[in-house]
Amino acid sequence: MAKTSGRCVHCLRLTEEITDDHVFPHSWYPDSTPATVQRWTVPCCRECNNRLSLLETDLLLRLALCLDPASEAAAGLSSRALRSLGLDTTNLSDSEKEHRKRRKAKLKSELLPLSEIAGQPGVIPGLSRQWVGQEGQFAVPIPWAALSIIAEKIARGCEYKLKERYVETPYAIRTTISDPDEVSPTFSSHRRLIDFGPGCQVLRVFITEDPKIVRHRILIWGALCMHTLIDTEEYFRNEFDPRVQRVQGLPPDQWRGKMTIHGSVSDFV
Ligand SMILES: [Zn+2]
Repeated sequence: MAKTSGRCVHCLRLTEEITDDHVFPHSWYPDSTPATVQRWTVPCCRECNNRLSLLETDLLLRLALCLDPASEAAAGLSSRALRSLGLDTTNLSDSEKEHRKRRKAKLKSELLPLSEIAGQPGVIPGLSRQWVGQEGQFAVPIPWAALSIIAEKIARGCEYKLKERYVETPYAIRTTISDPDEVSPTFSSHRRLIDFGPGCQVLRVFITEDPKIVRHRILIWGALCMHTLIDTEEYFRNEFDPRVQRVQGLPPDQWRGKMTIHGSVSDFV
C-alpha cells in the first residue's frame, strides 16, 4: 500500500501515512458476495484503521453467533465464528489453540441465560429470530457503543465515496436500531441504494432543503438494521437526550451501556 499523506475520513485529521479502510468491514462480507461487488475503501489514518479492525473482529464474533447459519446473506460467517473459537478446525499450532481457547472462555463467561433477558429491553430485533426459548440457549452481550461506531463508519464512508464529503462540524451523526422487517416510508421513495452485495445494503435519503442532512438505513446480513442520521449539532443538542452524547438508540428508560441480544450459542457451551 502506497504511503501518502491525506485526511482520515473517521477522525478528520491530516496524517503522513494514509491507509485504506473498507467502508463495509472487510471481514464481514459473506461467502455469497459476488466478485463483481465493489468493495469500497476510504482514506483512513493508521490509528483509526487499527482501532476499527480490533473492534470489527470482536463484534463480528458476537454478531455471527446470533445469525442463522443457513442464511444466504450471511453465508460462511457462523462457521468462521466457531472456528475462531477453536471449534471445527484442525491443524492449529499449540499457541493458536490456546489463544482460541481463551477467547472462547472469555465469551462464555459473558453469556446470559435466556430466562434473564426474556421480555427485557435491549434485544436487537433481527438478531433474536432464532430465539425459540429452548433450554441451553444464551444471549450474547453486544457493546452498543461498538455497534454505533460501525454504523457511523459506514455512513462516513458512503458520504465520502458519493459526495467526497467529510462529515464535520456543524454536522454530527447519531445511530439508532430498528427492525429489519420494517422500512419507513422515508426510504420507500427518492432514495439511493448502495449495494455491497447480500451482506450489506445501504439506503440513503435527504429529506430537507439542506442536502447535507442525510439519513442512511444500513441493513447488514438481512438481520441487523441500523439507521444513521447526519444533522446539525444544534439539532442533536435540542432534540436528543443530553445524557447520551454520541450514542443514542433506545428510549432513555431502556438505554444501557450494553445491549444484550440472543445468540444460538448452545453449540459451544
Ligand atoms: Zn483517523
